[in-house]
Amino acid sequence: MQKRTKIKELLLTEPTEQLVTVKGWVRTFRNNQFIAINDGSTINNIQAVVNAEVADEATMKRITPGSCVGVTGKLIASQGKGQKVEVAVTSIEIYGDAESDISKPNSYPLQPKAHSLEFLREIAHLRFRTNTFGAIFRVRHSLAYAVHKFFNDKGFVYMHTPIITASDAEGAGEMFKVTTLDINKAPLNEAGEIDFKQDFFGKATNLTVSGQLEGELAAMAFGEVYTFGPTFRAENSNTTRHLAEFWMIEPEMAFFDLNDNMDLAEELLHYVIRYALEHNKEDIEFLNQRLLDEEKNKPQTERSEMSLLEKLQFCIDNKFERVTYTEAISILRESNHNKKKKFQYLVNEWGVDLQSEHERYLVEKHFKKPVILTDYPKDIKAFYMRQNDDGKTVRAMDILFPGIGEIVGGSQREERLELLETRMKEMHLPIEEMYWYLDTRRFGACPHAGFGLGFERLVLFVTGMTNIRDVIAFPRTPKSAEF
Ligand code: ATP
Ligand code: MN
Repeated sequence: MQKRTKIKELLLTEPTEQLVTVKGWVRTFRNNQFIAINDGSTINNIQAVVNAEVADEATMKRITPGSCVGVTGKLIASQGKGQKVEVAVTSIEIYGDAESDISKPNSYPLQPKAHSLEFLREIAHLRFRTNTFGAIFRVRHSLAYAVHKFFNDKGFVYMHTPIITASDAEGAGEMFKVTTLDINKAPLNEAGEIDFKQDFFGKATNLTVSGQLEGELAAMAFGEVYTFGPTFRAENSNTTRHLAEFWMIEPEMAFFDLNDNMDLAEELLHYVIRYALEHNKEDIEFLNQRLLDEEKNKPQTERSEMSLLEKLQFCIDNKFERVTYTEAISILRESNHNKKKKFQYLVNEWGVDLQSEHERYLVEKHFKKPVILTDYPKDIKAFYMRQNDDGKTVRAMDILFPGIGEIVGGSQREERLELLETRMKEMHLPIEEMYWYLDTRRFGACPHAGFGLGFERLVLFVTGMTNIRDVIAFPRTPKSAEF
């Protein structure tokens, strides 16, 4: 067989009866004649037309949904609706069969009909072969590429920070332990506690919850750096926005204050969303239509005001609203929602942490656009955030998105050694063990800032999906680590 051409390219090619080869997976086979083949390069299938001269009866029987085929033939103008070109097949090869008779064991579960997202989650190893998941994962790829391109074009250095860490001071949630000790016969020390000196690293280690602290070290040499890697949190929160294993983008910039930090985060979000809109037009249009179809089954009052495409366009055309935590609390406290006790957690006092119902109220009901909340109370934020002169708040910023809630969490960092050490003592953090972090404040400290963008929450927003399990290939959540 001659060299294969990808379907994406063929669909843009003028048909001049040139000989082409297509290899891919059969989506449908109609009338013993029309094969719809998809090779993952695009959401669109190419139609290949076979007849009895090319494929004998036995071969015809093997062309079933899910089987893998290679066809060679002439690229001709298509008579059928919906496609410009098709392949008039002169030879066909079946690479792999897929049993389509569902009464037989091990039959292919993805028959050409609509499947629920819940069902597809159970067969996540095959769900890439559907239109929806094909679109989602091509968009995910583009977003990842756009993140790297954005930072590279600005001269940031990409850092790979450790995945196994002995520091658990970040306070970002419960950590997974990493050990080679036999958990049934773990050695004990004199105090009767597990003796991690005998463990692989000679100390207790965990999977990282963030690369920020190491990112800060590198920023004190390269000026502007970012990480983009997996992070792990053992929080037992079974929500549609939390994973135990997720990917995070964490830029860290010397000489940035909180405003510079917000500007960069907003520019990054605008850039990557625009990139996906430009490079994944067909995928996003498909996802847009998918949501419109889904909405038709909902009562009028529950339908969203904007389609996915409108929402994405709105997001890149508008500046995010910037408000302080203190202003947000008074908006929430005075809201009719609060007065009518419609929040599960009522907002009464300054100082409470915001629940996602509050974040979504601010974004979806009050401002009706993405919001950046700044200057949170220090008691609900991490030790490294820069303290304001009021003694109560820190230079934090969270970006809240419609339908998502928090998508970015960041801050200007506390660069003043004394204030940082005092705060760490107050929070009972191991100052001695963290000497390496404090060294950046001892040697050539400077104002700096950074943030963490949850990659799956970004993919959720751009694809319009509502469950985070549907935007990562193999989700890890409480009681689930399949595949
Ligand atoms: P949340 O309050 O939503 O649990 P967080 O404040 O604990 O988030 P940060 O520690 O600020 O999260 O992490 C930075 C970003 O990483 C968040 O803004 C979010 O986009 C993402 N993120 C945090 N936890 C998770 C998770 N368990 N699964 C997926 N993404 C997450
Ligand atoms: Mn946060």
